[in-house]
Amino acid sequence: MKRVLIVDDSRVSRRMLRNMFEVEGFEVIGEAINGKEGYEQYVKLSPDVVAMDITMPEMNGLDALRLIKKYDPQAKIVIISAAGQKDKVEEATLAGADAFITKPYDNKDIIDAINRC
Ligand SMILES: [Mg+2]
Repeated sequence: MKRVLIVDDSRVSRRMLRNMFEVEGFEVIGEAINGKEGYEQYVKLSPDVVAMDITMPEMNGLDALRLIKKYDPQAKIVIISAAGQKDKVEEATLAGADAFITKPYDNKDIIDAINRC
């Protein structure tokens, strides 16, 4: 069973992701509301996969992605971005994102991405 950390500043998004992961048989071991907290939770919990939003206060998802990859190059991070952020795909890829999914997403796209990690 893959252990997932959710990093998203939207309470609604976190709840939707958590429900989806639990229905699909993943274990959600933590949630964080910005990139800084996401990094701290990563270090503390060592999840198998991170589901990472981009736009968040304090520290965005791409900066958190870079920090986490620096700490753990084997980290698996799926970026789940808001619509209209396709221009971030290249930046996320260069930063080491393992997958990039745009909202609104099909649950299957996220599940497939996580299973590939
Ligand atoms: Mg956001």
